[in-house]
Amino acid sequence: MAFLQLTNIQKSFGPVQVVHNFDMGIDKGEFVSFLGPSGCGKTTILRMIAGFETPSGGSIFIDGKDQGALKPNQRNIGMVFQAYALFPNMNVHDNVAFGLNVAFGLKVAGASRTEIEARVKQMLGLIKLEHLADRFPYQLSGGQQQRVALARALAVKPQVLLLDEPLSALDAKIRISLREEIRQIQQQLGITTVFVTHDQEEALSISDRIVVMNSGRADQIGTPFEIYNTPATRFVASFVGTLNIIEGKVADPASGAVTIGGQRISLKEPIAGAKGGDSISLALRPEAGSIAEGARGDTALPGEVVSRSFLGSVIRTKLRVGKDIISFDMFNDPGMTPPVAGESVTLRFAAKDLLVIRE
Ligand code: ATP
Repeated sequence: MAFLQLTNIQKSFGPVQVVHNFDMGIDKGEFVSFLGPSGCGKTTILRMIAGFETPSGGSIFIDGKDQGALKPNQRNIGMVFQAYALFPNMNVHDNVAFGLNVAFGLKVAGASRTEIEARVKQMLGLIKLEHLADRFPYQLSGGQQQRVALARALAVKPQVLLLDEPLSALDAKIRISLREEIRQIQQQLGITTVFVTHDQEEALSISDRIVVMNSGRADQIGTPFEIYNTPATRFVASFVGTLNIIEGKVADPASGAVTIGGQRISLKEPIAGAKGGDSISLALRPEAGSIAEGARGDTALPGEVVSRSFLGSVIRTKLRVGKDIISFDMFNDPGMTPPVAGESVTLRFAAKDLLVIRE
């Protein structure tokens, strides 16, 4: 059994089932993100782990212990929410000490003050806010408040850390630096962490594994690399990263041959479960195509430039290719002449970079 074991978890609210037969084992020290659009059930799973919601079926074990009969305050879990949820009438020090005071008060009568002080100091050091211990929440930035919330959650040495969209209220730059800091602290402490987000870049950048949720079900569970490079379904492919869908026809499934716009090309592997003449959806990531002179690739499709947007490191360009609009990225090079709308170009890519998309 894994350190955090979710077995056949189900949840219904009235007649509506919002989580269907969810199974997953999460290893000790692993960082797992639940990724999906609003309403897909990711927060409900997190809340069931925390004990705020009771599963309609299934079981949750942490380190071999069934959590079913335990109330939230009996579970050894730390949680950070989207809204910082600090106590406004307590300074940073007291916010971090709060959980320890409660825990010590309940469990260790007369526990030494110095023990609590040492732990608070250690936690403030971890989040690099020792110098702000006397400040109140209203005197802190959003990012600082969220670091205090993290320190408060970690102070009691939880077995599992749950993060419910902790970065979504912050501005873009802080979001990136704080997610890196969270990941670094998580690895330093080796704490098993479940992170809920609807931001695919966030999930890709800091997770050991990602669960892509779609209408209460896990469409795919895998490493960021697997999720991005070999998406299991059309939903995963289009939710994670930008994707072009190119429609083709199967020519010879055994050899992986397909036709696109009348051209016969070979995919990297046979097409399981298909027969000659079937329609097939193929996906191409924007970084896999090029219109540069001498670009490599065994597939060349004629197209017309529709638009381009400058994104800094890359120029995302849209082409009309047959009936499809295809986006691809050109690396920014100050010496380049970017294509203009209306220009006729040839899009080249390697057929092996095409992904077969299943519904
Ligand atoms: P978001 O990113 O918007 O928080 P989510 O993926 O986390 O979305 P959940 O909050 O898990 O989604 O909600 C899943 C579904 O369950 C939604 O359709 C939601 O309306 C419903 N739901 C959640 N809590 C309750 C509740 N207490 N009573 C009834 N329905 C609920």
